[in-house]
Amino acid sequence: MVRENEIREGERAVEMPPASDAGLIFIGRIHTPWTSRMMTPRQGRRDGPVCRIEVFEPWVAALANIEEFDELEVLYWLHMSRRDLVLQSPASDGTSRGTFSIRSPVRPNPIGTSIVTLAGREANTLLVRGLDCLDGTPLLDLKPERTGFTPIAPPQPGDFEVG
Ligand code: SAM
Repeated sequence: MVRENEIREGERAVEMPPASDAGLIFIGRIHTPWTSRMMTPRQGRRDGPVCRIEVFEPWVAALANIEEFDELEVLYWLHMSRRDLVLQSPASDGTSRGTFSIRSPVRPNPIGTSIVTLAGREANTLLVRGLDCLDGTPLLDLKPERTGFTPIAPPQPGDFEVG
């Protein structure tokens, strides 16, 4: 099994263009039981272990009302990933797929997303199930899960456009 940063048969790397700063801010840190990419779930499970999402100041006030939701969408920065592969061989068998056709952590902007269930809150820390990232993974954003969220702002014309 190869899950670190090596290139496998059938994979292709490109030269990374210079970074243009999107101004991302790491708003917290995720604490999980996993310290090796080889041991981390490939996708989080709803019945997986409780993990802790620590939110840093000054963003703790932004957690207000979050406990109204059973399910959240978590976005995180897969900080140990290489970012330069356009073709990848998830099965390590010489066959390859385009990076945008898989959910590999290796991507030009290594953003991971998971839908998690909210198991509790302790001050600036959320307790959740459903994650699949390494201990210490930087947190990018938290949102209510899409289908469980009804927009609070009044409707606008585009909401009624079909076809
Ligand atoms: N659920 C997310 C998604 O679909 O966007 C991530 C899926 S990705 C396949 C999960 C894998 O990424 C884990 O099994 C682990 O090998 C790897 N991984 C987890 N945390 C990472 C990190 N901080 N840096 C690099 N790789 C990580």
